[in-house]
Amino acid sequence: MVQTENTKEKIAAIWNKRPMVIAGPCSAETEEQVIATALELQKLNRIDVMRAGIWKPRTKPGNFEGIGVKGLPWMVKARDLTGIPIAVEVATAKHVEDALSFGVDILWIGARTTVNPFSVQEVADALRGVDVPVFIKNPINPDVELWIGAIERIANAGIKQIGLIHRGFSSAAIKDLRNAPMWHIPIEMKTKFPTMPLLCDPSHICGRREPLLEIAQRGINLDFDGLIIESHINPDAAWSDAKQQLTPQDLGTLLNKIVWRQEAIQQEDALKSLSPLREEINHLDDEIINILVARMNVAEKIGMVKKNANATILQPGRWTEILKRLIAKGTKAGLSQEFVEKLLESIHIESIQRQNKVLEK
Ligand code: PEP
Ligand code: MN
Repeated sequence: MVQTENTKEKIAAIWNKRPMVIAGPCSAETEEQVIATALELQKLNRIDVMRAGIWKPRTKPGNFEGIGVKGLPWMVKARDLTGIPIAVEVATAKHVEDALSFGVDILWIGARTTVNPFSVQEVADALRGVDVPVFIKNPINPDVELWIGAIERIANAGIKQIGLIHRGFSSAAIKDLRNAPMWHIPIEMKTKFPTMPLLCDPSHICGRREPLLEIAQRGINLDFDGLIIESHINPDAAWSDAKQQLTPQDLGTLLNKIVWRQEAIQQEDALKSLSPLREEINHLDDEIINILVARMNVAEKIGMVKKNANATILQPGRWTEILKRLIAKGTKAGLSQEFVEKLLESIHIESIQRQNKVLEK
């Protein structure tokens, strides 16, 4: 059965629902697995969309590459039985065509596709003139422009409902998670595209079950609009991503543990105590700017002295000394070393630029 007007209306409501929760197996494997998972997810009564990978882009050949088109009728059957709309990943024009011919309600573009402008353009061209919501996962590497480029390509094809999925970034530095969250990147995207739903995909960030709750909660705390999370009727036997999937029942437990926060603060007493605190923050922020301005003015004076003495701007010994002193002071007072280092680094860059100007005058 293809999508009806009725489901279109349902999708429109889901698009504005907060939190939006998409769940389902990494991959559709068998009809029994898809249907059994769907029926259990339905029992949770809080799953808005069911996901499953039909075509799996694998880093290496030989891993399960997806069941292909024959899995689509299983998804349709799952929707018919549960009333829950369905979503699949698309990476080529043919995937789009097949998914649409089965009336799949929502499409998503995977991380390995977002990295490739040729592939994204191919998907965009196949979507021209079609009215279907599309989620775009972040590219594997932490490149905001690549993510934005994919959004532009899909938007230029005329797609109106575009959503974003944060699934973390490949990073050699990360050990206990599969992909580094680099939260500042989705936050930047949320600021740039405030009307697009932004979902957190804790499954692909974590790569294992244990940290799922913490990462999901972090996303919700950061004002994400919902979650996309992998759930399988028998996770340990899953044909892909076995370690990170949850049974529908465990997913229910996780969803119950999450403290669902909202951007708009409705509780009156919370609002009352917030307002003086916000005033205090505004005041402190003003002070920070005033102090930075004063610091830069002193840096200029130092530049003048260096100019007259024919000295170099960069005096590495002095800078190391400043860093050491302030990192010790900052960390002792509870600031993280990373924060103090980053802050001082940007102050130093600005300072050098100001001194440079003096020297060039
Ligand atoms: C997936 O959602 O199963 C998937 C392949 O994810 P990603 O594109 O984020 O790796
Ligand atoms: Mn997966």
